[in-house]
Amino acid sequence: MIKNIIFDLGNVLLKFKPNEFLLRFTDDKEYIDQFISKVTRSKTWLELDRGTNSVENARTIFLSEYPDEKEIIELFFDQWMDMLTPIEENVKILEEVKELGYRTYILSNYIIEAFSYVSSKYNFLSLFDGQIISGVEKVIKPEKAIYELLLSRYNLAPEESLFIDDVLFFLKPAKKLGMKTIWNRPETDLREELKKLDIFP
Ligand SMILES: [Mg+2]
Repeated sequence: MIKNIIFDLGNVLLKFKPNEFLLRFTDDKEYIDQFISKVTRSKTWLELDRGTNSVENARTIFLSEYPDEKEIIELFFDQWMDMLTPIEENVKILEEVKELGYRTYILSNYIIEAFSYVSSKYNFLSLFDGQIISGVEKVIKPEKAIYELLLSRYNLAPEESLFIDDVLFFLKPAKKLGMKTIWNRPETDLREELKKLDIFP
């Protein structure tokens, strides 16, 4: 029986669509794709997720690596946290499962500065019974240690725990440890998936 429901943040409870966001800078989608993968798949960005670098420092690094793209880098770093807005239908689901008596947790690769920002802005982030944020813990998904940290810190039995993430390969370690999982793709009806697991009537 599931007692614990664990949520990823990005693209489960909070939007993270940098490509859409940068359409305010240019309508050249190909350029945006290149820019975003260059930034978010870089070692520097991974260090932000892992909490071993600061956002300000990362901005300086990107500016020195790509001086010709100063304008888009400045825009991105000045405004990117604005795009981290709640996915309302899933926030509602969170509130409902909480009311049904499930314990709720966050397991997320999230940059510390961004987490502080969204925590001060959105009240639903105070609803959780516990949270493992990569930038705070200095360990990231899909490293096994971050899943084990969640289970041990909050004393969760994996077979009583359900993990929801939009990235398939972040679910694999959870599954291996015995947790149930839901892959939350853009087309997923999360409420339907939770019904299948008898969490909603
Ligand atoms: Mg995510």
